[in-house]
Amino acid sequence: MDTLVSLCKRRGFVFQSSEIYGGTGSCWDYGPLGVELKNKIKQLWWREFIQRRADMVGLDASIIMHPMVWKASGHVDHFTDPMVDCRECRHRFRADKVDEVPWVHYCPATKGNKFTVPAGEPCGHCGARRTLCPECGKGELTAPRQFNLMFKTFMGPVEEDAALTYLRPETAQGIFVNFDNVLQSMRRKLPFGIGQIGKSFRNEITPGNFIFRTREFEQMEIEYFVNPAEVVDGRPADEYWHERWIEDCMAFFERYGLGRENLRLREHEKEELAHYAKRTVDVEYRFPIGWSELMGIANRTDFDLKQHAKWSGKSLTYFDGTSWRDSGRPTTTTRPRSGASTGARTRSARRSA
Ligand SMILES: [Zn+2]
Ligand SMILES: [Zn+2]
Repeated sequence: MDTLVSLCKRRGFVFQSSEIYGGTGSCWDYGPLGVELKNKIKQLWWREFIQRRADMVGLDASIIMHPMVWKASGHVDHFTDPMVDCRECRHRFRADKVDEVPWVHYCPATKGNKFTVPAGEPCGHCGARRTLCPECGKGELTAPRQFNLMFKTFMGPVEEDAALTYLRPETAQGIFVNFDNVLQSMRRKLPFGIGQIGKSFRNEITPGNFIFRTREFEQMEIEYFVNPAEVVDGRPADEYWHERWIEDCMAFFERYGLGRENLRLREHEKEELAHYAKRTVDVEYRFPIGWSELMGIANRTDFDLKQHAKWSGKSLTYFDGTSWRDSGRPTTTTRPRSGASTGARTRSARRSA
């Protein structure tokens, strides 16, 4: 990985953010060549999924939204990772990842000599397994606590709770809250989709390798709205379209040069599904760090529109000319979310990545 990072720097693709001040954790800057490459990928995606399809339109929503959006979407309550802290060195770890890092060990079998033992393995001298902090090897770890991953900020001149808002952790909510605006102004008929490219922010505790998991990143997202009462090819429309989007996205990757042998689909287990999802399939890519998520495609049902209807008091329904459909609300969505421009993003089981 170090070779890759230094090559990207030397050739003007990716620099560490604020490098002259020692760098900002898990933030990266795209250099002169990197920005060209990134823009190319974005243009390609936009042309393929927005401009060339009759059933798609684009959107560019703002990063800072009404704080109620994140309450309604479930992010305030559910967008969390379980964290443990070291009582000694104060280092913080994701509870589910703490066994995946090498650990520091002062071995009693060798007069307390300090070793770094590979992740998940016992000490080769005394056979002990890790019980203390992997970082300092001395501190006890606290019980897991839930830590929200959204970046907080204040709107306006006063730093008080009433002015508290968030940098968006996903672009999708901008699409949902504009559902009615797009529907009315563009006179769309179901099924149709809205796509968007934009920055999102997640306060990752254990940011990953290089640009493969960053705190600030760019997403390409699509929300596709279908009539849940409709049957297509003998299947409910939401299931049919979900499958279609999986195929279309795989075809897109292959068409633009990703080898089939480096791509695979991974079905989410039931307990792994995000709070809104009926079914989620990840497109995984064989990165230098191993298989990891390149894109997640989720059937979110009507979770989001229903939530926003409830919290905003607006109906967010669809009228097809004769009747309000299925209590009016179209099922969303197949939701390709691609981190292609910033690389892969892996997600933990419990959060709504
Ligand atoms: Zn420690
Ligand atoms: Zn030992």
